Amino acid sequence: MRVFQTTSWYSASFPLWLLAAPFLLTSTFLFIRARRALQGCCTKCGYDLNGIEGAVCPECGASGDE
Ligand SMILES: [Zn+2]
Repeated sequence: MRVFQTTSWYSASFPLWLLAAPFLLTSTFLFIRARRALQGCCTKCGYDLNGIEGAVCPECGASGDE
């Protein structure tokens, strides 16, 4: 019983999901960027680059290489 109390105190003071939060945010950010790139949209602002010549976004000026 004593061990259980110590474990629950540890979990409450240091939530393990906090470790996963930065990785989840990063992967979500990368996923949105990749999806935009696959759809032919600007990875920075999401502007539709289909049919536009050149690698520079006319909306925000970001290059397609970034
Ligand atoms: Zn853009």
